[in-house]
Amino acid sequence: MAWGYSRYLFDHNFFQRADLDTAAENAGAALYQGQLALDNIAQLRQQVLAQRDQITELSVLVGVLVKLLAESGGVDEKVVRYRTEAALDAIAAEVEAKGMQAAAARQAEPQLRCVRCDRSVPARAITITADGNTCDRCAASGM
Ligand SMILES: [Zn+2]
Repeated sequence: MAWGYSRYLFDHNFFQRADLDTAAENAGAALYQGQLALDNIAQLRQQVLAQRDQITELSVLVGVLVKLLAESGGVDEKVVRYRTEAALDAIAAEVEAKGMQAAAARQAEPQLRCVRCDRSVPARAITITADGNTCDRCAASGM
């Protein structure tokens, strides 16, 4: 043990080697995280491809059902098409209304003017400096 300690005393490169070890560990951890992200992307790709096949099967199934119903005289094919379009339009309108609500909520947020770039930004993106209100971008760039 004493020999080990004295070795550090006379080893001038010890801290540099320790830093290198830490850097190597960090690089290994970053590599591992990157590999995990790539694995996740590959899994997502598989899911998207499987869902694409399911969507194709479902649209074929719906087409066959509509034809069968039309052939049996139960439903007019045109009526099915019109009603489907109306339902899709209603969904699109609902999605658009929700998007406009979110935009309105963003606009309702208090805006402040940056003293450096003179842009109007949300109050949460403002840092108060010695010069006054500064946006995060100017504060980060040190303008
Ligand atoms: Zn600014």
